[in-house]
Amino acid sequence: MTIQEFQKQIEAIYYERDSERGVPLTFTWFVEEVGELAKEIRKEPQDMERLREEFADVFAWLSTLASLLGISLEDAASIYEKGCPKCSSTPCTC
Ligand SMILES: [Zn+2]
Repeated sequence: MTIQEFQKQIEAIYYERDSERGVPLTFTWFVEEVGELAKEIRKEPQDMERLREEFADVFAWLSTLASLLGISLEDAASIYEKGCPKCSSTPCTC
């Protein structure tokens, strides 16, 4: 699945509901998911399946926010296609 396909899939599943909720509230849900990822990262021992799920959730909420704001995640990600956006090097030499 490409980043664009992922964003389209998340839109198909959630766009209507997220659109009704609006950007400010959806952003708070995103931050809450980031908090859940933080908790999962801090857990000892780490549960790789739970970590995987939390990464998926954070990515999904980020994606839906991008959709609500008219941003293509694939296009945004292309900023890093040729290395560090500031120094254009891989690895970064800033
Ligand atoms: Zn750099």
